[in-house]
Amino acid sequence: CGVFGVYAPNAEVARLAYFGLYALQHRGQESAGIATFAGDTVHCHKDMGLVSQVFDEEILNTLPGEIAVGHNRYSTTGSSRIVNAQPVLVQTRLGWLALAHNGNLVNTYALREQVLACSEPTAVLASTTDSELIAWAIAQAVETSQTWQEGIVSAVQQCQGAYSLVIGTPVGLFGVRDPHGIRPLVIGRLLSAPGADPHYVLASETCALDIIGADYIRDVEPGEIVHITASTISSHHWAESQRKLCIFEMIYFARPDSVMQSESLYSYRQRLGQQLGREAPVAADVVIAVPDSGVPAAIGFSQATGIPYAEGLIKNRYVGRTFIQPTQSMRESGIRMKLNPLRDVLMGQRVVIVDDSIVRGTTSRKIVKALRDAGAVEVHMRISSPPVTHPCFYGIDTDNQDQLIAATKSVAEIAEQIGVDSLSYLSWQGMISATYDTGDRFCSACFTGQYPITIPEPVKRQKLVLEHIP
Ligand code: 5GP
Ligand code: SF4
Ligand code: MG
Repeated sequence: CGVFGVYAPNAEVARLAYFGLYALQHRGQESAGIATFAGDTVHCHKDMGLVSQVFDEEILNTLPGEIAVGHNRYSTTGSSRIVNAQPVLVQTRLGWLALAHNGNLVNTYALREQVLACSEPTAVLASTTDSELIAWAIAQAVETSQTWQEGIVSAVQQCQGAYSLVIGTPVGLFGVRDPHGIRPLVIGRLLSAPGADPHYVLASETCALDIIGADYIRDVEPGEIVHITASTISSHHWAESQRKLCIFEMIYFARPDSVMQSESLYSYRQRLGQQLGREAPVAADVVIAVPDSGVPAAIGFSQATGIPYAEGLIKNRYVGRTFIQPTQSMRESGIRMKLNPLRDVLMGQRVVIVDDSIVRGTTSRKIVKALRDAGAVEVHMRISSPPVTHPCFYGIDTDNQDQLIAATKSVAEIAEQIGVDSLSYLSWQGMISATYDTGDRFCSACFTGQYPITIPEPVKRQKLVLEHIP
């Protein structure tokens, strides 16, 4: 999911949130929502669909105020339905709260029991999401706490798993990151005029700051809560940081123009490709990418091997998740709706095709066939991350373990199934060394099975299906 928050009196905050969510669209395409606070009054609009489908000029005009909280949803816990759209609004003893959550809790069942057992106030759960439980846990904690901040901290201490939260309240905006900092959350500063008081912004990624002209200040740290008012920001570390940033954010999920670890992810992904070129070179005539996610790594691979880079697949930029389903015969023509091969580039060539990851392997198989149909004489696939062997419990929707092709098949078997002449993945060490950091600073459980946050056994069994087959 994508989250966004801004406190800016005298600015059109709903419009800022709209643009922020627009830049974060890649983090979730199922639903979008914005809540605004005008003093104690809260306004909210949320619906299924893309940001541009959910909002228009007229709707933004119904969202006045000085604080805005925004959310783009991508479902992990809970189905794809309007009741699960965020921000979640809950009335508390201290007024309304509007909560936007990115991540996934692993103790959802225990938290649900706890929230339902508490009667002050009685939770009315409208959805099936872990995010709504966090909002109610805050409402219940606020009942006995002196301040909003105390209530929020006491509630998130009951949560295990991944959560980057943006919370709007009548006393300002709060940003919280779990002690492992699995999902990103950044702080930006917005200057309305030279010499004027600055305003502060929270967003999942820096690309959402760029679009509204805000400067990146720093990340919200793992285990930190920040409180933003009209022109101030204060910080409190409520838990010790045990940083485990999701490395899949860096490899695939976040936008290449977003900054993590002090550089754009484009640079990181290019280095992954260079490392891959050193680890798994091949004799070939041209390097191409699976657009858009494979592009930086393909360029890196070309730089390291000296094989020229070209565009071999053209992506239709306007294919998103549309509400109109293609006909059966269109669906069978598969990826052609999204990716069309360039015959002139591929005909008679030995082709290296670079992608960031293979998850189920279905996309790869179709792409390889399309390249051969367009005249490629050899197809060598290079993947700029290790084999995905384990499911994610922390907010990336990579299916159950039995759906992951690398969970049951060797690299040679995968190569055969997707129909390539050769296949190589980047090593785990290669992926880590390109971060210029150490492996213990990241979650890389989908590649290793070493989950940094303990997952309760029944939750494990839902997705980690292979390891429980006797
Ligand atoms: P697959 O091997 O599953 O058919 O497709 C791999 C492609 O999907 C890669 O190009 C990669 O960029 C993209 N991808 C990687 N992880 C995910 C994910 O969690 N969800 C979706 N929808 N696509 C993903
Ligand atoms: Fe990210 Fe993989 Fe860890 Fe999930 S399991 S948080 S996708 S690195
Ligand atoms: Mg891709």
